[in-house]
Amino acid sequence: MRCIFCGNNESKVVDSRYLKDTSIRRRRECLVCGKRFTTYETVEANPMVVTNVDNMREPFKIEKLIESVKYAIYCTNVADTAEEIASRIETKLFALQQQEITTKDIVKVALDVLFEVNAMACLVYYTQHTDCETFDDVRRFLSK
Ligand SMILES: [Zn+2]
Repeated sequence: MRCIFCGNNESKVVDSRYLKDTSIRRRRECLVCGKRFTTYETVEANPMVVTNVDNMREPFKIEKLIESVKYAIYCTNVADTAEEIASRIETKLFALQQQEITTKDIVKVALDVLFEVNAMACLVYYTQHTDCETFDDVRRFLSK
């Protein structure tokens, strides 16, 4: 995204907000001059591509993330909505500055964010999205 102040193409996303008409308002910070500017993007223009375990590529979809977060926080009393949490995860994913990410990247970042939100939600997400099978796997994860 081109900086409107110095024309440099490298910027990082410092905040993402979902607007009602399926567009996203992003605050960006130029990596050269450090100035901040705002861009409005539609969800369709979202450039991030996800590579899954079968090496299939698909566009990153926030809806999928929201669904999995909803499931994870279902039995908790978390005050944040799934949309808010998913948006936080997405912001962190964009901060990785990679156009291609893997499902593993998403799981890792989601676990970091959910861990701060609620331990139970984090654990539910972990059991749903990793290949942990035994109680030992869960215990290893918890001791990290
Ligand atoms: Zn700049």
